[in-house]
Amino acid sequence: MAIKILIVEDEPDIRKTLQYNLAKESYDVATAGSISEAKLLTNQNQPHLIILDLMLPDGSGLDFCRDIKSAEDTKNIPVIILTAKTDEVDRVVGFELGADDYVTKPFSVRELVLRVKAILKRGAVETPSDDSSSHNFGGLELNLEAHQVFIDSKEVVLTALEFRLLKHLLDRRGRVQTRDQLLGDVWGYSSEVTTRTVDTHIKRLREKLGPVGDYIQTIRGVGYRFSRNPD
Ligand code: CA
Repeated sequence: MAIKILIVEDEPDIRKTLQYNLAKESYDVATAGSISEAKLLTNQNQPHLIILDLMLPDGSGLDFCRDIKSAEDTKNIPVIILTAKTDEVDRVVGFELGADDYVTKPFSVRELVLRVKAILKRGAVETPSDDSSSHNFGGLELNLEAHQVFIDSKEVVLTALEFRLLKHLLDRRGRVQTRDQLLGDVWGYSSEVTTRTVDTHIKRLREKLGPVGDYIQTIRGVGYRFSRNPD
């Protein structure tokens, strides 16, 4: 069964280019030029991944993203946001709403296709936790099934990516992870993508974790390491 991708984009040129390039990779591609059309298509035939433009004729793609991510039957569909706005705020808002990745216009089609592949691969290899369902480290607790993080029993809301990053570092505590390793293991990217992405996400993760964020140590010129012991 082919993997279904829905492209939501009102600019015909971009829509066609994406459709052509993704179809070439053997994906089953559907396109929508508006949110109402995208809703209809999603209800009729649920896609495995959505590529979503933000500025659409009948509203903001962010609202559609929120709807997708808040409904039980669609919340696991990965969403990649396409945005012409380079504004950091929009990026943050996109991730807060649960978007899985974003690409800034003008973008390279090749890079977007790589990201689509990386996200779909991630979904395929992600298996339900088999051993213990939670991880504890000092005041930090990760509930692996619910994808929830608590610090001193108080919940900290992380994006799916931040959660994976934190778990990855915690699982390898005491060992340095280079930026390239993190990109490959957590993002599923090849090193063609800038390693600054890692720094940006580590920074935000640390901010959210507050004092616990200090467990994530920067190893200058190399990468990051989670403390071996919680003290
Ligand atoms: Ca648009």
